[in-house]
Amino acid sequence: MDNRLVILGGGESGVGAAVLAKKQGYDVFLSDSGIIRPAAKELLGEYGIEYEEGMHSAPMIMQAREVVKSPGIPDTLPLVEDLNKAGIPVISEIEFAGRFTRARKICITGSNGKTTTSSLIYYLLKNAGLNVGLAGNVGQSFAYQVATQNYDIYVLELSSFQLDGMYDFKADIAILLNITPDHLDRYHYDLKEYVKAKFRITQNMDEDDCFIFCRDDEISMEHLNRIVLKAKMLPISQKDTLSEGAYALEDKMHVIYGEQEFEMFINELALQGKHNVYNSMAAALSAKIMNISNPVIRESLTSFKSIPHRMEQVARVKGTLYINDSKATNVNSVWYALDSLQTPVIWIVGGQDKGNDYSVLADLVSNKVKTIVCLGKDNEKIINAFSGKVSEIIDTHSMEDAVAQSYRVSRPGDTVLLSPACASFDLFRNYEDRGDQFKEAVRKL
Ligand code: ADP
Repeated sequence: MDNRLVILGGGESGVGAAVLAKKQGYDVFLSDSGIIRPAAKELLGEYGIEYEEGMHSAPMIMQAREVVKSPGIPDTLPLVEDLNKAGIPVISEIEFAGRFTRARKICITGSNGKTTTSSLIYYLLKNAGLNVGLAGNVGQSFAYQVATQNYDIYVLELSSFQLDGMYDFKADIAILLNITPDHLDRYHYDLKEYVKAKFRITQNMDEDDCFIFCRDDEISMEHLNRIVLKAKMLPISQKDTLSEGAYALEDKMHVIYGEQEFEMFINELALQGKHNVYNSMAAALSAKIMNISNPVIRESLTSFKSIPHRMEQVARVKGTLYINDSKATNVNSVWYALDSLQTPVIWIVGGQDKGNDYSVLADLVSNKVKTIVCLGKDNEKIINAFSGKVSEIIDTHSMEDAVAQSYRVSRPGDTVLLSPACASFDLFRNYEDRGDQFKEAVRKL
Protein backbone atom coordinates (compact mmCIF):
# COMPACT_ATOMS: atom_id res chain seq x y z
CA MET A 1 0.00 0.00 0.00
CA ASP A 2 1.38 3.31 -1.03
CA ASN A 3 0.67 5.49 1.94
CA ARG A 4 0.60 2.92 4.72
CA LEU A 5 2.16 4.33 7.87
CA VAL A 6 2.73 1.96 10.76
CA ILE A 7 3.17 3.27 14.27
CA LEU A 8 4.95 1.13 16.87
CA GLY A 9 3.91 1.98 20.42
CA GLY A 10 0.57 3.32 21.62
CA GLY A 11 1.81 5.78 24.23
CA GLU A 12 1.60 9.57 24.11
CA SER A 13 3.87 9.99 21.08
CA GLY A 14 2.49 7.03 19.11
CA VAL A 15 -1.14 8.02 19.47
CA GLY A 16 -0.28 11.64 18.63
CA ALA A 17 1.54 10.52 15.48
CA ALA A 18 -1.44 8.34 14.54
CA VAL A 19 -3.88 11.23 14.85
CA LEU A 20 -1.66 13.54 12.82
CA ALA A 21 -1.07 10.90 10.14
CA LYS A 22 -4.77 10.17 9.85
CA LYS A 23 -5.54 13.87 9.46
CA GLN A 24 -2.89 14.07 6.77
CA GLY A 25 -4.59 11.28 4.82
CA TYR A 26 -2.27 8.37 5.57
CA ASP A 27 -3.48 4.82 5.83
CA VAL A 28 -2.55 4.33 9.52
CA PHE A 29 -2.02 1.18 11.56
CA LEU A 30 -0.84 1.34 15.19
CA SER A 31 0.66 -1.65 16.96
CA ASP A 32 1.54 -2.00 20.64
CA SER A 33 2.93 -5.20 22.17
CA GLY A 34 1.53 -4.15 25.56
CA ILE A 35 -1.79 -2.77 26.71
CA ILE A 36 -2.99 0.57 25.37
CA ARG A 37 -4.53 3.01 27.90
CA PRO A 38 -8.34 3.32 27.68
CA ALA A 39 -8.18 7.08 26.97
CA ALA A 40 -5.77 6.45 24.09
CA LYS A 41 -8.03 3.76 22.65
CA GLU A 42 -10.93 6.14 22.78
CA LEU A 43 -8.98 8.73 20.83
CA LEU A 44 -7.94 6.13 18.24
CA GLY A 45 -11.58 5.10 17.91
CA GLU A 46 -12.68 8.70 17.54
CA TYR A 47 -10.35 9.17 14.57
CA GLY A 48 -11.16 5.73 13.11
CA ILE A 49 -7.58 4.53 13.44
CA GLU A 50 -6.92 0.82 13.09
CA TYR A 51 -4.81 -0.68 15.91
CA GLU A 52 -3.74 -3.85 17.71
CA GLU A 53 -2.48 -4.43 21.25
CA GLY A 54 -0.74 -7.27 23.06
CA MET A 55 1.23 -8.17 19.92
CA HIS A 56 3.05 -6.97 16.83
CA SER A 57 1.65 -8.66 13.69
CA ALA A 58 4.65 -8.76 11.40
CA PRO A 59 2.70 -9.26 8.14
CA MET A 60 0.72 -6.06 8.78
CA ILE A 61 3.75 -4.10 9.87
CA MET A 62 6.07 -5.17 7.08
CA GLN A 63 3.67 -3.61 4.53
CA ALA A 64 4.53 -0.14 5.77
CA ARG A 65 6.02 2.50 3.54
CA GLU A 66 7.38 4.11 6.69
CA VAL A 67 7.32 3.34 10.42
CA VAL A 68 7.11 5.76 13.34
CA LYS A 69 8.68 4.10 16.38
CA SER A 70 8.17 5.13 19.97
CA PRO A 71 11.43 6.20 21.67
CA GLY A 72 10.88 3.49 24.29
CA ILE A 73 11.33 0.65 21.78
CA PRO A 74 15.00 -0.31 21.30
CA ASP A 75 16.55 -0.86 17.86
CA THR A 76 17.50 -4.36 18.94
CA LEU A 77 13.88 -5.53 18.87
CA PRO A 78 13.86 -8.25 16.15
CA LEU A 79 10.92 -6.58 14.41
CA VAL A 80 12.87 -3.31 14.15
CA GLU A 81 15.87 -5.22 12.84
CA ASP A 82 13.64 -6.80 10.18
CA LEU A 83 12.31 -3.39 9.15
CA ASN A 84 15.86 -2.10 8.83
CA LYS A 85 16.86 -5.11 6.76
CA ALA A 86 13.85 -4.62 4.49
CA GLY A 87 14.87 -0.99 3.96
CA ILE A 88 11.66 0.40 5.47
CA PRO A 89 12.48 3.78 7.06
CA VAL A 90 11.98 3.90 10.84
CA ILE A 91 11.64 7.43 12.20
CA SER A 92 10.62 9.16 15.43
CA GLU A 93 7.38 10.99 16.08
CA ILE A 94 9.27 14.30 16.21
CA GLU A 95 10.72 13.72 12.73
CA PHE A 96 7.27 12.85 11.41
CA ALA A 97 5.47 15.80 12.99
CA GLY A 98 8.23 18.22 11.94
CA ARG A 99 7.15 17.72 8.32
CA PHE A 100 3.75 19.25 8.93
CA THR A 101 4.52 22.52 10.71
CA ARG A 102 6.27 25.71 9.70
CA ALA A 103 6.60 26.84 13.33
CA ARG A 104 10.00 27.89 14.65
CA LYS A 105 11.50 25.17 16.78
CA ILE A 106 13.63 25.63 19.89
CA CYS A 107 15.01 22.21 20.80
CA ILE A 108 16.64 21.24 24.05
CA THR A 109 18.70 18.16 24.82
CA GLY A 110 21.36 17.12 27.33
CA SER A 111 21.84 14.45 29.97
CA ASN A 112 20.40 16.69 32.69
CA GLY A 113 18.27 19.82 32.83
CA LYS A 114 16.11 19.27 29.75
CA THR A 115 12.70 19.57 31.40
CA THR A 116 13.74 22.49 33.56
CA THR A 117 15.20 24.47 30.66
CA SER A 118 12.35 23.64 28.26
CA SER A 119 9.76 24.72 30.83
CA LEU A 120 11.67 27.90 31.58
CA ILE A 121 11.94 28.87 27.91
CA TYR A 122 8.27 28.10 27.36
CA TYR A 123 7.35 30.26 30.34
CA LEU A 124 9.51 33.11 29.04
CA LEU A 125 8.03 33.02 25.55
CA LYS A 126 4.50 32.86 26.90
CA ASN A 127 5.18 35.85 29.14
CA ALA A 128 6.37 37.69 26.04
CA GLY A 129 2.94 37.07 24.54
CA LEU A 130 4.06 34.62 21.86
CA ASN A 131 1.86 31.83 20.48
CA VAL A 132 3.98 28.92 21.70
CA GLY A 133 3.59 25.19 22.44
CA LEU A 134 5.67 22.96 24.72
CA ALA A 135 6.21 19.36 23.61
CA GLY A 136 8.66 16.48 23.24
CA ASN A 137 9.20 14.58 26.45
CA VAL A 138 6.79 16.82 28.34
CA GLY A 139 3.00 17.03 28.21
CA GLN A 140 1.05 16.37 25.01
CA SER A 141 3.05 15.01 22.11
CA PHE A 142 4.44 17.27 19.41
CA ALA A 143 2.51 15.35 16.73
CA TYR A 144 -0.81 15.74 18.54
CA GLN A 145 -0.25 19.47 18.96
CA VAL A 146 0.72 19.86 15.30
CA ALA A 147 -2.50 18.01 14.43
CA THR A 148 -4.77 20.05 16.67
CA GLN A 149 -3.14 23.48 17.34
CA ASN A 150 -1.68 26.27 15.33
CA TYR A 151 1.38 27.48 17.20
CA ASP A 152 4.00 29.80 15.72
CA ILE A 153 6.77 28.41 17.92
CA TYR A 154 7.47 25.10 19.64
CA VAL A 155 9.76 24.44 22.55
CA LEU A 156 10.76 20.77 22.24
CA GLU A 157 12.47 18.70 24.89
CA LEU A 158 14.34 15.93 23.07
CA SER A 159 15.88 12.79 24.54
CA SER A 160 18.63 10.94 22.73
CA PHE A 161 16.12 8.21 21.86
CA GLN A 162 13.94 10.72 20.03
CA LEU A 163 16.97 12.21 18.30
CA ASP A 164 17.99 8.73 17.12
CA GLY A 165 15.02 8.60 14.76
CA MET A 166 15.51 12.10 13.31
CA TYR A 167 16.99 12.75 9.86
CA ASP A 168 15.58 15.75 7.97
CA PHE A 169 14.28 17.62 11.01
CA LYS A 170 15.93 20.96 11.69
CA ALA A 171 15.92 23.08 14.82
CA ASP A 172 16.01 26.88 14.53
CA ILE A 173 17.62 27.10 17.95
CA ALA A 174 19.30 23.97 19.35
CA ILE A 175 20.49 23.71 22.93
CA LEU A 176 22.83 21.01 24.18
CA LEU A 177 23.11 21.48 27.94
CA ASN A 178 25.65 18.82 28.89
CA ILE A 179 26.65 15.23 28.26
CA THR A 180 27.35 12.74 31.02
CA PRO A 181 27.28 8.97 30.61
CA ASP A 182 23.65 7.84 30.86
CA HIS A 183 21.47 5.25 29.13
CA LEU A 184 24.61 3.61 27.79
CA ASP A 185 22.82 0.26 27.75
CA ARG A 186 20.98 1.53 24.64
CA TYR A 187 24.24 2.60 22.93
CA HIS A 188 26.27 -0.63 23.11
CA TYR A 189 28.02 0.84 26.20
CA ASP A 190 29.81 3.21 23.83
CA LEU A 191 29.92 6.83 25.00
CA LYS A 192 30.77 7.98 21.44
CA GLU A 193 27.49 6.64 20.12
CA TYR A 194 25.56 8.44 22.84
CA VAL A 195 27.45 11.69 22.12
CA LYS A 196 26.65 11.35 18.41
CA ALA A 197 22.98 10.84 19.21
CA LYS A 198 22.93 14.03 21.28
CA PHE A 199 24.65 16.00 18.51
CA ARG A 200 21.92 15.04 16.07
CA ILE A 201 20.15 18.05 17.51
CA THR A 202 22.42 20.17 15.28
CA GLN A 203 21.79 18.31 12.04
CA ASN A 204 20.69 20.27 8.95
CA MET A 205 21.24 23.61 10.69
CA ASP A 206 22.54 26.47 8.57
CA GLU A 207 23.94 29.98 9.09
CA ASP A 208 20.59 31.41 10.19
CA ASP A 209 20.23 28.92 13.03
CA CYS A 210 21.74 29.11 16.51
CA PHE A 211 23.47 26.42 18.52
CA ILE A 212 23.76 26.97 22.27
CA PHE A 213 26.23 24.67 24.02
CA CYS A 214 28.09 24.49 27.31
CA ARG A 215 31.73 25.46 27.05
CA ASP A 216 32.44 24.00 30.48
CA ASP A 217 31.25 20.53 29.45
CA GLU A 218 34.27 18.44 28.49
CA ILE A 219 32.48 15.74 26.56
CA SER A 220 30.51 18.22 24.43
CA MET A 221 33.62 20.30 23.74
CA GLU A 222 35.74 17.33 22.79
CA HIS A 223 33.22 16.36 20.11
CA LEU A 224 32.64 19.94 19.01
CA ASN A 225 36.35 20.44 18.40
CA ARG A 226 36.28 17.65 15.86
CA ILE A 227 33.29 18.73 13.76
CA VAL A 228 32.27 21.76 11.71
CA LEU A 229 28.82 23.28 12.13
CA LYS A 230 27.28 25.99 9.98
CA ALA A 231 25.03 27.31 12.74
CA LYS A 232 25.85 30.40 14.77
CA MET A 233 27.79 29.12 17.77
CA LEU A 234 26.72 30.47 21.14
CA PRO A 235 28.57 29.10 24.18
CA ILE A 236 27.51 29.36 27.80
CA SER A 237 30.04 29.23 30.64
CA GLN A 238 30.56 29.74 34.35
CA LYS A 239 34.33 29.75 33.95
CA ASP A 240 35.21 32.24 31.21
CA THR A 241 34.18 35.66 29.97
CA LEU A 242 32.72 35.47 26.44
CA SER A 243 32.31 38.04 23.68
CA GLU A 244 29.10 36.36 22.53
CA GLY A 245 26.88 33.83 24.31
CA ALA A 246 26.19 33.83 28.03
CA TYR A 247 28.48 33.66 31.02
CA ALA A 248 28.21 33.95 34.77
CA LEU A 249 31.09 35.05 36.94
CA GLU A 250 30.87 35.93 40.62
CA ASP A 251 27.41 37.35 41.29
CA LYS A 252 26.15 38.23 37.80
CA MET A 253 25.11 36.54 34.59
CA HIS A 254 25.68 38.25 31.24
CA VAL A 255 24.00 37.48 27.93
CA ILE A 256 25.37 38.86 24.67
CA TYR A 257 23.78 38.26 21.30
CA GLY A 258 24.90 40.52 18.45
CA GLU A 259 24.28 44.07 19.57
CA GLN A 260 21.98 43.02 22.38
CA GLU A 261 22.98 42.57 25.99
CA PHE A 262 21.26 41.45 29.16
CA GLU A 263 22.55 41.27 32.72
CA MET A 264 21.10 39.95 35.93
CA PHE A 265 22.21 39.14 39.48
CA ILE A 266 22.35 35.39 40.09
CA ASN A 267 20.70 35.65 43.49
CA GLU A 268 17.60 37.07 41.77
CA LEU A 269 17.05 33.90 39.73
CA ALA A 270 14.02 31.86 40.75
CA LEU A 271 15.97 28.64 40.20
CA GLN A 272 18.96 28.50 42.49
CA GLY A 273 22.06 26.29 42.24
CA LYS A 274 24.94 26.23 39.79
CA HIS A 275 23.17 23.86 37.41
CA ASN A 276 20.22 26.21 37.22
CA VAL A 277 22.52 29.09 36.33
CA TYR A 278 23.37 27.12 33.16
CA ASN A 279 19.68 26.45 32.54
CA SER A 280 18.77 30.10 33.11
CA MET A 281 21.57 31.31 30.83
CA ALA A 282 20.45 28.96 28.04
CA ALA A 283 16.88 30.24 28.46
CA ALA A 284 17.87 33.92 28.53
CA LEU A 285 20.07 33.49 25.46
CA SER A 286 17.23 31.81 23.53
CA ALA A 287 14.97 34.66 24.58
CA LYS A 288 17.44 37.24 23.28
CA ILE A 289 17.64 35.37 19.97
CA MET A 290 13.85 35.55 19.86
CA ASN A 291 14.12 39.30 20.41
CA ILE A 292 12.39 39.36 23.78
CA SER A 293 12.86 42.49 25.85
CA ASN A 294 15.11 42.57 28.90
CA PRO A 295 12.35 43.42 31.40
CA VAL A 296 10.31 40.37 30.30
CA ILE A 297 13.36 38.12 30.58
CA ARG A 298 14.24 39.46 34.01
CA GLU A 299 10.68 39.19 35.30
CA SER A 300 10.30 35.63 33.98
CA LEU A 301 13.59 34.34 35.37
CA THR A 302 12.59 35.77 38.75
CA SER A 303 9.02 34.51 38.91
CA PHE A 304 9.35 31.00 37.44
CA LYS A 305 8.11 28.33 39.86
CA SER A 306 10.27 25.23 40.10
CA ILE A 307 8.76 22.10 38.65
CA PRO A 308 7.85 19.14 40.88
CA HIS A 309 10.53 16.62 41.85
CA ARG A 310 13.46 18.91 40.87
CA MET A 311 14.95 20.54 43.95
CA GLU A 312 11.38 21.17 45.03
CA GLN A 313 11.11 22.71 48.50
CA VAL A 314 8.45 20.70 50.32
CA ALA A 315 8.27 22.10 53.84
CA ARG A 316 10.22 23.28 56.84
CA VAL A 317 9.66 21.10 59.89
CA LYS A 318 11.19 22.14 63.23
CA GLY A 319 13.71 24.33 61.42
CA THR A 320 14.78 21.63 58.91
CA LEU A 321 14.11 22.15 55.22
CA TYR A 322 12.90 19.12 53.20
CA ILE A 323 13.76 19.09 49.48
CA ASN A 324 12.36 16.68 46.90
CA ASP A 325 14.86 16.04 44.08
CA SER A 326 13.45 12.63 43.15
CA LYS A 327 14.17 13.29 39.46
CA ALA A 328 17.90 13.17 40.22
CA THR A 329 18.39 9.65 38.89
CA ASN A 330 22.10 9.89 38.21
CA VAL A 331 25.25 10.89 40.08
CA ASN A 332 25.74 14.08 38.11
CA SER A 333 22.36 15.50 39.13
CA VAL A 334 23.14 14.75 42.77
CA TRP A 335 26.46 16.55 42.43
CA TYR A 336 24.64 19.75 41.49
CA ALA A 337 22.00 19.25 44.16
CA LEU A 338 24.58 18.89 46.96
CA ASP A 339 26.70 21.67 45.52
CA SER A 340 23.77 24.09 45.70
CA LEU A 341 23.17 23.57 49.46
CA GLN A 342 24.93 25.57 52.14
CA THR A 343 23.66 23.73 55.27
CA PRO A 344 24.45 20.35 56.84
CA VAL A 345 22.63 17.73 54.75
CA ILE A 346 20.79 14.53 55.59
CA TRP A 347 20.90 12.81 52.23
CA ILE A 348 18.33 10.19 51.21
CA VAL A 349 19.88 8.15 48.41
CA GLY A 350 19.46 4.80 46.67
CA GLY A 351 17.20 2.72 44.46
CA GLN A 352 17.93 0.77 41.34
CA ASP A 353 21.60 1.29 40.56
CA LYS A 354 22.52 2.15 36.94
CA GLY A 355 26.20 1.32 37.27
CA ASN A 356 26.92 4.42 39.37
CA ASP A 357 30.43 5.54 40.22
CA TYR A 358 30.00 7.33 43.55
CA SER A 359 33.62 8.44 43.82
CA VAL A 360 32.86 11.78 42.08
CA LEU A 361 30.65 12.68 45.04
CA ALA A 362 33.22 11.79 47.72
CA ASP A 363 34.47 15.34 48.47
CA LEU A 364 31.05 16.98 48.44
CA VAL A 365 29.63 14.27 50.68
CA SER A 366 32.48 14.57 53.19
CA ASN A 367 32.05 18.34 53.30
CA LYS A 368 28.28 18.66 53.37
CA VAL A 369 26.54 15.44 54.37
CA LYS A 370 26.25 14.51 58.03
CA THR A 371 23.97 11.50 57.66
CA ILE A 372 23.22 9.23 54.73
CA VAL A 373 19.83 7.54 54.74
CA CYS A 374 19.89 4.71 52.21
CA LEU A 375 16.57 3.97 50.57
CA GLY A 376 16.55 0.95 48.28
CA LYS A 377 15.92 -2.76 48.17
CA ASP A 378 19.64 -3.38 48.30
CA ASN A 379 21.80 -0.61 49.79
CA GLU A 380 25.11 -2.44 50.04
CA LYS A 381 26.89 -0.56 47.25
CA ILE A 382 26.11 2.84 48.77
CA ILE A 383 27.07 1.72 52.26
CA ASN A 384 30.41 0.46 50.94
CA ALA A 385 31.03 3.60 48.88
CA PHE A 386 30.52 6.00 51.78
CA SER A 387 31.37 4.18 54.98
CA GLY A 388 33.89 6.25 56.92
CA LYS A 389 33.05 9.40 54.92
CA VAL A 390 30.05 10.49 57.02
CA SER A 391 29.29 10.14 60.69
CA GLU A 392 26.27 7.89 60.20
CA ILE A 393 24.72 5.69 57.52
CA ILE A 394 21.18 4.39 58.05
CA ASP A 395 19.70 1.49 56.09
CA THR A 396 15.99 1.85 55.18
CA HIS A 397 13.66 0.15 52.71
CA SER A 398 10.56 2.32 52.65
CA MET A 399 9.90 6.03 52.20
CA GLU A 400 8.05 6.27 55.48
CA ASP A 401 11.01 4.89 57.38
CA ALA A 402 13.53 6.98 55.43
CA VAL A 403 11.67 10.19 56.28
CA ALA A 404 11.14 9.14 59.92
CA GLN A 405 14.86 8.37 60.35
CA SER A 406 15.81 11.68 58.69
CA TYR A 407 13.48 13.52 61.03
CA ARG A 408 14.99 11.71 64.03
CA VAL A 409 18.56 12.80 63.24
CA SER A 410 17.75 16.32 61.99
CA ARG A 411 18.59 19.55 63.85
CA PRO A 412 17.30 23.08 63.12
CA GLY A 413 19.20 24.53 60.15
CA ASP A 414 19.74 21.15 58.44
CA THR A 415 18.40 20.17 55.03
CA VAL A 416 16.89 16.75 54.30
CA LEU A 417 17.52 16.11 50.62
CA LEU A 418 15.91 13.29 48.63
CA SER A 419 18.28 13.07 45.65
CA PRO A 420 18.55 9.35 44.96
CA ALA A 421 21.15 9.04 42.12
CA CYS A 422 19.27 5.90 41.11
CA ALA A 423 16.18 4.78 39.24
CA SER A 424 13.10 4.22 41.38
CA PHE A 425 11.71 0.95 40.08
CA ASP A 426 12.88 -1.29 42.94
CA LEU A 427 10.45 0.25 45.44
CA PHE A 428 8.28 2.71 43.49
CA ARG A 429 6.28 2.95 40.28
CA ASN A 430 8.45 5.77 38.94
CA TYR A 431 10.31 8.87 40.14
CA GLU A 432 7.06 10.83 40.46
CA ASP A 433 5.62 8.19 42.77
CA ARG A 434 8.83 8.28 44.83
CA GLY A 435 8.70 12.08 45.09
CA ASP A 436 4.98 12.08 45.92
CA GLN A 437 5.49 9.51 48.69
CA PHE A 438 8.31 11.65 50.07
CA LYS A 439 6.11 14.75 50.13
CA GLU A 440 3.30 12.87 51.78
CA ALA A 441 5.56 11.45 54.47
CA VAL A 442 7.04 14.91 55.14
CA ARG A 443 3.61 16.49 55.42
CA LYS A 444 2.61 13.87 57.99
CA LEU A 445 5.55 14.70 60.28
P1 ADP B 1 16.01 16.04 32.45
O1 ADP B 1 14.71 16.47 31.86
O2 ADP B 1 17.15 16.23 31.50
O3 ADP B 1 16.00 14.69 33.08
P2 ADP B 1 15.42 17.83 34.66
O4 ADP B 1 15.27 19.26 34.26
O5 ADP B 1 14.20 17.03 34.90
O6 ADP B 1 16.35 17.10 33.62
O7 ADP B 1 16.34 17.78 35.96
C1 ADP B 1 16.72 16.51 36.51
C2 ADP B 1 17.74 16.68 37.60
O8 ADP B 1 18.98 17.09 37.04
C3 ADP B 1 17.34 17.75 38.59
O9 ADP B 1 16.91 17.11 39.76
C4 ADP B 1 18.59 18.57 38.85
O10 ADP B 1 19.11 18.27 40.11
C5 ADP B 1 19.59 18.14 37.78
N1 ADP B 1 19.91 19.19 36.81
C6 ADP B 1 19.07 20.11 36.28
N2 ADP B 1 19.71 20.91 35.41
C7 ADP B 1 20.99 20.48 35.35
C8 ADP B 1 22.16 20.88 34.62
N3 ADP B 1 22.14 21.90 33.75
N4 ADP B 1 23.30 20.19 34.84
C9 ADP B 1 23.33 19.16 35.69
N5 ADP B 1 22.29 18.73 36.42
C10 ADP B 1 21.12 19.37 36.25
